[in-house]
Amino acid sequence: MTTTEQLYRNAAGLAEIGEVIQPDDAVYAGEIPMAALTEADRLRLLAYPGSLARRVRRRSQTARLRVIYVVPDCATDEAAFEPGRPFNLTPRGRAYNRQPDPEAADPSRAHYWEALFDAHAEELKDSARSADVEIVRASELVNNSGFLSVLRLALRSPGQIADAVRESNPAAEIDEKPLVFAGAACRECGSINGSTDYDPDWDRAQFECEDCDHSQEADIQEQPMWMQEDVLRAATIAALNPAVVIRRPAAKWDAREDLVDSLLMLAVGDGAQPPTRLMPPSLDSEQGGTPLKDLIRLADDWDEDYAELP
Ligand SMILES: [Zn+2]
Repeated sequence: MTTTEQLYRNAAGLAEIGEVIQPDDAVYAGEIPMAALTEADRLRLLAYPGSLARRVRRRSQTARLRVIYVVPDCATDEAAFEPGRPFNLTPRGRAYNRQPDPEAADPSRAHYWEALFDAHAEELKDSARSADVEIVRASELVNNSGFLSVLRLALRSPGQIADAVRESNPAAEIDEKPLVFAGAACRECGSINGSTDYDPDWDRAQFECEDCDHSQEADIQEQPMWMQEDVLRAATIAALNPAVVIRRPAAKWDAREDLVDSLLMLAVGDGAQPPTRLMPPSLDSEQGGTPLKDLIRLADDWDEDYAELP
């Protein structure tokens, strides 16, 4: 599909994209939350792609729409930062793929929420039968050249990423140090606590684990890695090359999406084309349990930036 505008909003945006999206186009619905889904998550992650899949189907009975979800397994919420400085990360703790599952039944927290998301994917397939759901683990994209170009940027040039943060959000507080947007994770204990030396000539990472003292060196495709979440989003978009990205609503995410686009440009070069984005309305998430069919109807009808459940 080709579009001239890059951001489409609410029901009108859904209708416009529904007109131009092609069967077999990929919709990047988003990252699977490492927590229970709110109604706002369900509107964004399930109802919006569901509505697009129905629209494609209306134009052709045999058409399918690829809906892609990413398990952000190599991101983390355990890295440390000073209050108000979320981009000045110090590697601490583990990535989601090495954090313990809250019920100790799956190998990790990432596996746990991925498994629970299957029920939501089934709900989507029931409500929009032309949706083909793909769930991709970010860590499994590490052999993709687009993914690697963003990872290398983060390892090689954290200062360029800090500049991109300042450009995308002049109000953002970001200090000169620490500037770490990606690094190795210990292959023994999973800890990211330690400094990563990246050698761009050999594309290898050296890591000394401060938790278990294990030292290791490997090609970056072989070493387990963690990535800051915007870097990871840029890397997965570069790898999956979706026709449409569904983004988080509300102005506070504008700068973060601009940052993702800047990272794509920096990593892939001037030829990179930022993906078309579709933004659902903000939704008060306190109520729950709305059937997905009703959420799809809300998505189809609601053309303002703030929605309420009926
Ligand atoms: Zn270790």
